[in-house]
Amino acid sequence: TAVIGVLALQGDVREHLIALAEADAQARPVRRPEELAEVDAVVIPGGESTTMSNLALSFGLMEPLRERVAKGMPVYGSCAGMIMLADVILDGRDDQQSVGGIDMTVRRNAFGRQNESFESAIDVKGFDSAVHGVFIRAPWVESVGAEVEVLAELPAADGAQSRIVAVRQGNLLATSFHPELTGDHRVHELFVRIVEEALADQG
Ligand code: GLN
Repeated sequence: TAVIGVLALQGDVREHLIALAEADAQARPVRRPEELAEVDAVVIPGGESTTMSNLALSFGLMEPLRERVAKGMPVYGSCAGMIMLADVILDGRDDQQSVGGIDMTVRRNAFGRQNESFESAIDVKGFDSAVHGVFIRAPWVESVGAEVEVLAELPAADGAQSRIVAVRQGNLLATSFHPELTGDHRVHELFVRIVEEALADQG
């Protein structure tokens, strides 16, 4: 069976390890390139993407992550992890880098001051009921390329336009919100299915 690594440089690593275990996956933390080489897929947790970017560079993980993504490794990123998967970051720090892989532009801390943290029911494509979306200084997806499938949007409210908050491109999955904090593991189960299908394709 597949082994899923959780990038354990910073952020809510433990919550993802638990959510993956409850989604019947084998999961373990990944901090070093040798550990990355031993897993079939990776989750990039929520946290702070600027710090995560720095640590990924200093732990020598940024290039190996990019190489694995280019070879088709499945990756799921929540919140800061979504930012790490974006090809383009708006309102990032000047020296901030991403792994990239999803043809999208995300805006960091996009929901603004009055709305730094909030919760909202989110309809995710393919799910038969809404998930409880927990947003904490979350990014939104400002635009996507043709290969990106939009899985969820935060509905328009109070004159604000609707915003993309979940996407998939091939084996890459990203959410603005934090399903790892809710006890509802359907997003993790979706990712586990993506991982299993990717492994089956490799034969
Ligand atoms: N604002 C954080 C960032 O820029 C993301 C917050 C989160 O992961 N909850 O990385």
